[in-house]
Amino acid sequence: MKLENKPNSICVMVVDDEQDIRDGSERILTRIGFRVLKASRGDEALTILEKEKVSIVLLDLKMPGMDGMEVLRHIRERDEAILVIVITGYATVETATEAMKLGAYDFISKPFVPDQLRIVVNRAWEKICLTQEAEKLEEEKRRTLSDLGTEKSRIHTIIEQLPNGMLVTNSKGQVVLMNPAVMQLLDLDSGLKVGKQIEDYVVDEGLCKLVMEISQGKHVDFDDIPDYEFNQSDDKYLLAKGQPVLGEKKECLGAVISVVDISAIKVLDQLKSEFVAKVSHELRSPLSTIHEQLALVIREMVGEVSEHDQHILARAREKTQGLISLIGDLLDLSRIEEGLICQEPKSVRLEDLLEDIVDFLKTRTDGKGQSITLELPNDPLPDLIADPLALETIFGNLITNAINYTQDGGTIKVEIDMAGINVRVKVSDNGFGIADKYLDKIFERFYRVKDDKTRYITGTGLGLPIVKGLVDSMGGFISVESTPGKGSVFTVLLPIKA
Ligand code: ADP
Repeated sequence: MKLENKPNSICVMVVDDEQDIRDGSERILTRIGFRVLKASRGDEALTILEKEKVSIVLLDLKMPGMDGMEVLRHIRERDEAILVIVITGYATVETATEAMKLGAYDFISKPFVPDQLRIVVNRAWEKICLTQEAEKLEEEKRRTLSDLGTEKSRIHTIIEQLPNGMLVTNSKGQVVLMNPAVMQLLDLDSGLKVGKQIEDYVVDEGLCKLVMEISQGKHVDFDDIPDYEFNQSDDKYLLAKGQPVLGEKKECLGAVISVVDISAIKVLDQLKSEFVAKVSHELRSPLSTIHEQLALVIREMVGEVSEHDQHILARAREKTQGLISLIGDLLDLSRIEEGLICQEPKSVRLEDLLEDIVDFLKTRTDGKGQSITLELPNDPLPDLIADPLALETIFGNLITNAINYTQDGGTIKVEIDMAGINVRVKVSDNGFGIADKYLDKIFERFYRVKDDKTRYITGTGLGLPIVKGLVDSMGGFISVESTPGKGSVFTVLLPIKA
């Protein structure tokens, strides 16, 4: 503490009937930065105190009229914060002790030298500074506590009022917080208390498992935690999204799960899927017949029609082929949406399945002068429990896209490894790439990027929606990173037990 930096407002009052003491003290104390007021009598001192803000009082005990003890009593009654230093003669040390008992802060004996006065007043000033500092800290602490209290109750109110369900678990998977919305969505009794395991509140086994995994910090890649759709009852569909809660050292403290009701969207989606499935089904047989008949006409009329007409017929046949594959894709999508496609999960060795697909597509890469490689991990992967047909569709589509949207002579790479509890497959190419603004859109139905490079590549725009539908239905996750002109990487994460 820098004592020489005293503000001038720090005022010392010297109360003594001896003028020498008053003037001498004034000289010494003014020189070290205090403002000094003087009083020769007790009642004069009390009058000054009524008008001035005095911090320290140097008080002679032996004065004519009102004596020092009396003045001290008055000061103590008026203002506890004023520090009183009593000035005593040798003979009055006992009185000084009594004064200390009455609340004087210190004493100095007459006669004193300047240094003694400086030391004793500076000590009092130091005490004032420390007291002020302590009061400031105490005030800050009070404010912080009250801020925290307000913040806590504000967050609590927000969570209570949220229209979305909100459930929080600790790292053992015990529920520590639920808002009324989640209790209503999960059909829980409103009086139910928190504190038990997640299974005591949630019936769906898949969701319980996911919540436990997130709570225990099993998801290494937090962005890749899948959304979870489940049926609460026959006509109530819910969507849960989970995120881990991390502590200061990035350790997992539990999970926050938000739950929304998606029943209305589901009903609409179902109606639309049924409509699409019906229309596609109705169109497929007549279209196939037209396609076959066109083929027949082309075969029978070779040489009889002009080259121009032959070209027209061939184009018509290409178009009907395009329509037939579009209808095939639409029917596949409908089946995925109805949950019919992943019906036969078995134990699958993903390395073998990918090897077969790569082998099968090699003729196409050879035709385009492209190289395709499959990189397997050093240690064998655990088998996947999944529908092999669905897996073929997923990776067949991704690798075919990589071939289609990469220039002749390009490179395609398929890699497999483990990421936490998931198998990770990356399909990368050094082809045309996809601009950032299209990255979300390519998973929408019928969306195709149309630029100079892709315009003439035939496709339905349904491949990636089918892939995403299948990956989602297996509880997996798909993401894409791409740089136009450099290439794309599609990453699929699939839980070992789909
Ligand atoms: P389709 O291939 O039938 O057009 P998809 O749904 O499989 O439909 O793909 C949608 C769009 O995403 C494609 O039209 C293409 O523009 C883009 N795309 C998909 N894969 C890649 C890739 N590996 N590289 C560049 N663009 C791609």
